[in-house]
Amino acid sequence: MAPAAVTPAAKSDDEDNYEEYIPVAKRRAMEADRLRNRRISKPAAASDGSPASLPPPPPPPPTNSPAPDAAAAKPSLLVTSTQLKRAAPEVTATEQVILQEKEMIENLSDRKTLMSVRELAKGITYTEPLLTGWKPPLRLRRMPRTKADELRRKWHILVEGDEVPPPARQFQDLRFPEPILRMLREKGIVQPTPIQVQGLPVVLSGRDMIGIAFTGSGKTLVFVLPLIMVALQEEMMMPIVAGEGPFGMIICPSRELAKQTYDVIEMFLAPLKQAGFPEIRPLLCIGGIDMRTQLDVVKRGVHIVVATPGRLKDLLAKKKMNLDNCRYLTLDEADRLVDLGFEDDIREVFDHFKAQRQTLLFSATMPKKIQNFAKSALVKPVIVNVGRAGAANLDVIQEVEYVKEDARIIYLLECLQKTPPPVLIFCENKADVDYIHEYLLLKGVEAVAIHGGKDQEERQNAIEFFKNGRKDVLVATDVASKGLDFPDIQHVINYDMPAEIENYVHRIGRTGRCGKTGIATTFINKNQTETTLLDLKHLLKEAKQRIPPVLAELIDPEDAETIAKESGVRGCANCGGLGHRLAECPKLEHEKSVAIAGSRRDYYGGGGYRGEI
Ligand code: ADP
Ligand code: MG
Repeated sequence: MAPAAVTPAAKSDDEDNYEEYIPVAKRRAMEADRLRNRRISKPAAASDGSPASLPPPPPPPPTNSPAPDAAAAKPSLLVTSTQLKRAAPEVTATEQVILQEKEMIENLSDRKTLMSVRELAKGITYTEPLLTGWKPPLRLRRMPRTKADELRRKWHILVEGDEVPPPARQFQDLRFPEPILRMLREKGIVQPTPIQVQGLPVVLSGRDMIGIAFTGSGKTLVFVLPLIMVALQEEMMMPIVAGEGPFGMIICPSRELAKQTYDVIEMFLAPLKQAGFPEIRPLLCIGGIDMRTQLDVVKRGVHIVVATPGRLKDLLAKKKMNLDNCRYLTLDEADRLVDLGFEDDIREVFDHFKAQRQTLLFSATMPKKIQNFAKSALVKPVIVNVGRAGAANLDVIQEVEYVKEDARIIYLLECLQKTPPPVLIFCENKADVDYIHEYLLLKGVEAVAIHGGKDQEERQNAIEFFKNGRKDVLVATDVASKGLDFPDIQHVINYDMPAEIENYVHRIGRTGRCGKTGIATTFINKNQTETTLLDLKHLLKEAKQRIPPVLAELIDPEDAETIAKESGVRGCANCGGLGHRLAECPKLEHEKSVAIAGSRRDYYGGGGYRGEI
């Protein structure tokens, strides 16, 4: 390099070692100039061999922003990011939706609902299931895995979890006492249904379980029979004394369902007592009836409690009952419980447990969100799935008709003729129930009605009269849509289409129970949102039902099939609707606004949101 390349500043440095201070901005500008000159002179230098860098011209006055050419030399952030993006593998729109959904589900899946605050605070986690004295008979224990898998395939049972107990094809395989087996036979219950084939060995073994199966597929027995066995076992080991108990508990989302489950338990307890087994005392703990009679049972010592969350919470808070010995908990229609806003009540109930419990969740609809938080809160849970969670029972013929709002009441009378009674009519609000009830009575139809605004006696009578055939038609809100088992209902009429597709599945599930077929007629009109109608359309499609033209012409969301296939989640993870994805879930929006409203109410000291029980 030629000596001429030495800058005047460098020269003076050499002479007296004095380094003149150059402000940063000025230095940057000098550097930029130097680079610019070098680039300009480079081609020339290459051709005539003259030095590549020349002494820089006097620097321009310092500016606050770096010289534009500096940016050219060092790629800007924008350029870098574009280059990086180009280098990164392309993320398709579908993948983006899947990623976004995954993140949203994680945020929604709050495991705290199923854990007590005490356990969370102390970091108590249980790692091993609670042992029971029950073991499958040797023949079942020796069943090779391939055989068990084959049986499950045959019965369309999907299982998930570690060391899943083998399926049992006969009630006799399950070591129930003779009086229970006799009662089952008397009721015509000879062959277990698929959820019972797999669910009963799982629950009897003491494992936590999430049971998902169609409406009317016999889920009740899966948690009732093992609970009776637990109570018997505990009572035989150490008889309960006054004020003690319960050993096990079932929580239901409606008083009527709690009463029904309680009746099933009593049905099995009576022959046991007659046969000389120790007395097991159950308690029906629901609102709307006198608390004193409930307390009398508690005082004597109670083995099994069937409850709705509100009354149970009250009893526990007032220290009238404790869960010190409780080791078995079932949430029937678990997703409905969470949906109806009972999360806080359930969490409070969990706080009363003093030790590990066996936790069971059952429903016909169980969106991914709830499955996820349950999976993380339960101990080594086994998920038993018969049919898709949220799918309609295939024994129900679903008919959907477009009926203008004003024409519905007249058409309803015509519709009632479709089948002989009993018929169940659902509508969303209480005022409509009263209106239809009155109209039917005026027309001479033997009808009863039930909704959350009626007193408990009226509600109970309505259900009883309808169940035993003294009344032909029951008009109800969704309070009667969950879990109620009316024998021989042939026809369910939806006077309106519920906004949530899961409610629709539960409503129509009141017919077509346990192998029988039934019809469901649903009135739709312009009052329903497109999302609801799309969900309905896809549910009909899944159940291979006729799709009316008004639904057929709705445009399906793009890519839904691909996203479902690639993410492994069919439909919306929040509400189970097949016509939309999680990001478009109207229920999610509603939940958010309820949560915001709820937090405001709390601030002003008001009550929280409460579903109809
Ligand atoms: P789910 O809770 O799944 O909706 P339920 O437990 O209420 O269904 O049962 C529906 C009906 O089927 C009940 O009347 C019950 O007595 C009857 N049932 C249950 N298990 C069997 C069975 N294995 N065989 C015949 N009927 C059964
Ligand atoms: Mg049920």
